[in-house]
Amino acid sequence: MGQKVLVIGSGAREHTIAYTLLKGASVDEVTVAPGNPGMLKDGIHITALNESNHAALIDFAKDNQYDWVFIGPEVPLIEGLVDDFAAAGIKAFGPTKAAAQIEGSKDFAKQLMARHGIPTAQYRTFGDLEQAQEYVHEHGAPIVIKADGLAAGKGVTVAMDEHTAQRALEDIFIDHRFGTAGAKVVIEDFLEGQEFSLMSFVDGTRFWPMPISQDHKRAHDGDEGPNTGGMGAYSPVPQIPQSVIDEAIEKIVRPTVEGMAEEGTPFTGILYAGLIATADGPKVIEFNARFGDPETEVVLPKLTSDFGAGISDILNGGTPEFTWDENNATLGVVLASNGYPEHVIKGARVPEINVDEDSHVYYAGVVSDGKGGLVANSGRVLLVETSAPDIKSAQDKVYAIIDQLPLRGLFYRHDIGFKALQ
Ligand code: AMP
Repeated sequence: MGQKVLVIGSGAREHTIAYTLLKGASVDEVTVAPGNPGMLKDGIHITALNESNHAALIDFAKDNQYDWVFIGPEVPLIEGLVDDFAAAGIKAFGPTKAAAQIEGSKDFAKQLMARHGIPTAQYRTFGDLEQAQEYVHEHGAPIVIKADGLAAGKGVTVAMDEHTAQRALEDIFIDHRFGTAGAKVVIEDFLEGQEFSLMSFVDGTRFWPMPISQDHKRAHDGDEGPNTGGMGAYSPVPQIPQSVIDEAIEKIVRPTVEGMAEEGTPFTGILYAGLIATADGPKVIEFNARFGDPETEVVLPKLTSDFGAGISDILNGGTPEFTWDENNATLGVVLASNGYPEHVIKGARVPEINVDEDSHVYYAGVVSDGKGGLVANSGRVLLVETSAPDIKSAQDKVYAIIDQLPLRGLFYRHDIGFKALQ
């Protein structure tokens, strides 16, 4: 009999995780808490339990006898949900609270990298406005200011002039824009190059890298507009040579996994390395302690092995097998509510989207309209993903689907994948 899995989270990332689990023979039932009603289209169950209510999630998992749990988002990981499940005797895939610090504190991540010689931007950490201001004044621009803690992707200012950098410091220390996440600030040297995401399955001491992908963080075409959670992604990233990927695996992923194990905070789960290919090789921009969103929506569709079997092997101390479709490109485009990310206007009707077997729709911020349809209720609403022999064909195919939709109140970028096609 197949396994029963509980997934925690509600976005397109969790939709992709649940959908990919169901594709494999080893899993025959998946419930997502709290999930979203778009997931129901794929035979995924949802249950109205909030990701921050650890006690209720544990009771639910026990009462319904799930074999194991997959935790999608960073907040419950950083708040120790894996530890709480473990204490209740339930296997949950993801890092412990201690290991999730690699995402939860930029200062923790920077110190870990310094101890293990992992390439990243030079930095200083400050807990006080005046010293930070003085450092920025001496250093000059360009310079990067980062709130230490979790700030939902909004805690980073890439300042091309000193004034912008000083304003970012005032936002953090005087206006307390990020609350306690801004009690400390990491100030980094500006790095130049193409960014890419390298995610790996990690079992505490060993790791299995996935194909790389590239996100598009800015809201509008041509990388204009404010930073968002991500507007689309694709994989592979042909402008990043294999030698750079190999170097990133050996000089970044391996020493991070081994270093965390040696230091007594072994990492189990998905290690996401946000990297930049500089003239002196790949360097770390950030680590995340979970699958990236939207990267997951273009990487997991390439998995040709049984996803649930791989995760369950890791949870049971075995050796998983992960194999990938190396012959096709995948590309995904996010539909977002107008005004995202700053002033989201909710309530747009979500049209029915029909796709072929090489494409899929992964839902995020949607609620039921009570009449069998869906309505947008947050910034990122859904992502349309497709697989094709090359990036250009994948791009053409996704836009052929999206461009003819009757969209009112939703927008999307028209150039996802452009850096691969330049
Ligand atoms: P993060 O939230 O850490 O991913 O940062 C958001 C974005 O800021 C990244 O995707 C980069 O584009 C940019 N960024 C962060 N750190 C640096 C850096 N040291 N140099 C240049 N750009 C950076």
